[in-house]
Amino acid sequence: MKIPQFMPSIGADEYAAIKGCFDENWITEGPRSKEFKQKLLELMGAKYGEFAPNGTLAIYLALKAAGIRPGDEVLVPNFTFIASANAVVMAGAIPVFIDVDTHLQINLDHCKSRLTPKTTAIMAAHMYGTCGNMNDVTHFAKVHCLTVIEDAAQAIGVHWDGKHAGTFGDVGTFSFFADKTITCGEGGFVVTNDRAIATNLAYLRNQGRLNRGTFIHPEIGFNFRMTDIHAAVGLTQLGKLDNIIKRKLEIFSLYCDGLGDVTGLRIFKPQKNSSFVPFRVCIIDEANIAAQVMENLKNAGVETRTFFYPLHKQPCFSFLEKIHDYHDDEFQVSNLMFKNGICLPTFLQITNEQISYICDVVRKSYEDV
Ligand SMILES: *Cc1c(COP(=O)(O)O)cnc(C)c1O
Repeated sequence: MKIPQFMPSIGADEYAAIKGCFDENWITEGPRSKEFKQKLLELMGAKYGEFAPNGTLAIYLALKAAGIRPGDEVLVPNFTFIASANAVVMAGAIPVFIDVDTHLQINLDHCKSRLTPKTTAIMAAHMYGTCGNMNDVTHFAKVHCLTVIEDAAQAIGVHWDGKHAGTFGDVGTFSFFADKTITCGEGGFVVTNDRAIATNLAYLRNQGRLNRGTFIHPEIGFNFRMTDIHAAVGLTQLGKLDNIIKRKLEIFSLYCDGLGDVTGLRIFKPQKNSSFVPFRVCIIDEANIAAQVMENLKNAGVETRTFFYPLHKQPCFSFLEKIHDYHDDEFQVSNLMFKNGICLPTFLQITNEQISYICDVVRKSYEDV
């Protein structure tokens, strides 16, 4: 058996949607993007939104539009995909790494110890299809006069007390990469309820003007548009979101049935106020055999992934001056999560038999301890 970590779930519907763009001879951003945007804003309950070519550039755009300037320090969770921090570097600002708690959410006590006069923003990253407690984050930000950016790339369709991830802070971002909950192949989206930020977003992404067709540019801006071909795929995927969530929850529940009673491992779950759209089913090893479990799965033809490598250890960030003052034991949770976390296949086409096969391999690994 060969079970990959992930495969996108696209087919005849998405293909037909693309054909529509060709039939109507409209391929750049246009009617489908407009409809996709409207439906996303409806889903998220946000006032304003703009597309970006991908999730990384969406974060960059969000930071710039929210007024983050070169030299600013931005508090970034130490446990997230590297793009969260790289977008900060791209904006000329300095990522300051902060450990996470066991919900994989930025640790506010640690944030406090890292505040300086240059700190202007805090980034929260919602992990693996859960929503973090943004009430705490926004309260902290208010007290310390920080802008709040939410990286919700993995949290489309996820709510905290009924409010959609990415809409708590000043600005939130999403990704439509191939392995995200819904995909366009590549794509990103930025949401905000702040009119000024929305205006900045519009200028920044469209060559410093609000509308196409004029060559007078009041602001400096760039091209962050996406194509209607991408939007057509995204719209089709969005139409399937309820079914996608349903199947993902079924997959999660099958893994829970198969692994819930295994001593020595824990299944990552959302906090109680958060809904859940399992981005991956994640298990956290507590018997110190994660490497062995992954080896056994590999030998059984199952492709796994580790959790994210702690950002403070990333070779690419060794240029950051402050990184050399960090002590490794400040990052206990992110270090431990990298050591013990395993992402199991969670793609829509996985069969119940395949899940049961994966559970057997994992169970057996723990019986052999
Ligand atoms: C996927 C992802 C991104 C980056 O999105 P791209 O579309 O791949 O650029 C950023 N942050 C998180 C948490 C992600 O999962």
